[in-house]
Amino acid sequence: MRLSRYFLPVLKENPAEAQIVSHRYMLRAGMIRQQAAGIYSWLPLGFKVLRRIEQIVHEEQQRAGHIPMLMPTLQPADLWRESGRYDDYGEEMLRITDRHKRDMLYGPTNEEMITDIFRAHISSYKDLPLTLYHVQWKFRDEIRPRFGVMRGREFLMKDGYNFDLTKADALHAYNRHLVSYLRTYERMGLQALPMRADSGPIGGDNTHEFLVLADTGESEVYYDSAVTDIRLGARAIDYDDHAQCQAVMEEFTALYARTDETHDPAAFAAIPAARQRMARGIEVGQIFYFGTKYSEPMGATVVTADGGRVPVHMGSHGIGVSRLLGAIIEASHDDKGIIWPEGVTPFHCGIVNLKQGDAGTDAACMEVYTALKARGLDPLYDDRDERAGAKFATMDLIGLPWRITAGPRGLASGKVELTCRRTGLTEEMPAPDAIERIAAIYKDI
Ligand code: ATP
Ligand code: MG
Repeated sequence: MRLSRYFLPVLKENPAEAQIVSHRYMLRAGMIRQQAAGIYSWLPLGFKVLRRIEQIVHEEQQRAGHIPMLMPTLQPADLWRESGRYDDYGEEMLRITDRHKRDMLYGPTNEEMITDIFRAHISSYKDLPLTLYHVQWKFRDEIRPRFGVMRGREFLMKDGYNFDLTKADALHAYNRHLVSYLRTYERMGLQALPMRADSGPIGGDNTHEFLVLADTGESEVYYDSAVTDIRLGARAIDYDDHAQCQAVMEEFTALYARTDETHDPAAFAAIPAARQRMARGIEVGQIFYFGTKYSEPMGATVVTADGGRVPVHMGSHGIGVSRLLGAIIEASHDDKGIIWPEGVTPFHCGIVNLKQGDAGTDAACMEVYTALKARGLDPLYDDRDERAGAKFATMDLIGLPWRITAGPRGLASGKVELTCRRTGLTEEMPAPDAIERIAAIYKDI
């Protein structure tokens, strides 16, 4: 993309309404525009990152064997009356009446609808296990929408639902989700720690939230600092292997890590003092096993091998896709702007022309631009007639991890500059070498 032809409405001033850095930078970098409290338009740059995050979520869900589909945002109230949640959900649910006076709602989540789909089409144990998911907009009429996309009213969520014959199978689905989530966050350059969370009225300890540590997080968390040393990394995972998924789950959840709702001061005190941590975190996902809570009242049953009929065991699993933009920025920025991890960056590389209108420099920049595109990369070329300082400030603000800078002086000795946004280090080299380096960096991402 050439910046002169793009839509990047960068703000010079800090918007007064933004209290935290991610919200401030998303507004300043022209990524989002608020349309009403907690409701945002995704401007081109923000939309690109949102799509990138969504793409990683899809890839990792499908790698784990989960099947994508799409359910609507609007749902009939009657489904929620069957589960008993229509009255329970309270004011967070946006209730709508259509022209025929039918009660509808803008879905805050989809357990009821997916259970309805399941019972309509599946009746045999032979069709299990099954995990379906979608990435769809949700609406929750939050009492205090704030921090930009972090706590919106309309937000994008991946929500997946597993259907299994037995509790043991459903717990494997739980573990499989835990592993796939770890991998998803790591690909986004994030560390999200699974923490034992509150299972509410359902009981048991089969729910974990994934938390990104950040001072601006809304959750209070307690953990053993040794949990932050564990990484999934590039290890091969067989998602059908119950024992392997269970082992990864145990490895990541054995040490103490809990949200305040499940915090146990006595167990916390047993951690060596030097490793006790109390901090704040951003919840970027949650996994849940809830057995037959929905399948029983809604009649989602299957015929078993011996001819009996049993309600299926279910779980639901969510990732806050739009919240992740905020979480990633909270975890990765400096005082000049965002620093995108390579996995989610909106453009792979920026190109800065130091002397727009100088025939030699223009041609060199276009050559770099074309060569990067030919490698399948997506560069952003700042070809505006602007001062170099303004161009650098924009590039730093929007946070592209790599920048190639070309000007008459360097080109006279056959060189361009390659700059790493994270370290600020600049190296001079011939343009083909810089292109090679960028291509190598993104080869496995
Ligand atoms: P919270 O406790 O932050 O209100 P939740 O526990 O009610 O969230 P879940 O039902 O677990 O949310 O939804 C799955 C994921 O969706 C959450 O982990 C979070 O990342 C994201 N999410 C939930 N509410 C919002 C919101 N209002 N704005 C943006 N993302 C949200
Ligand atoms: Mg949650």
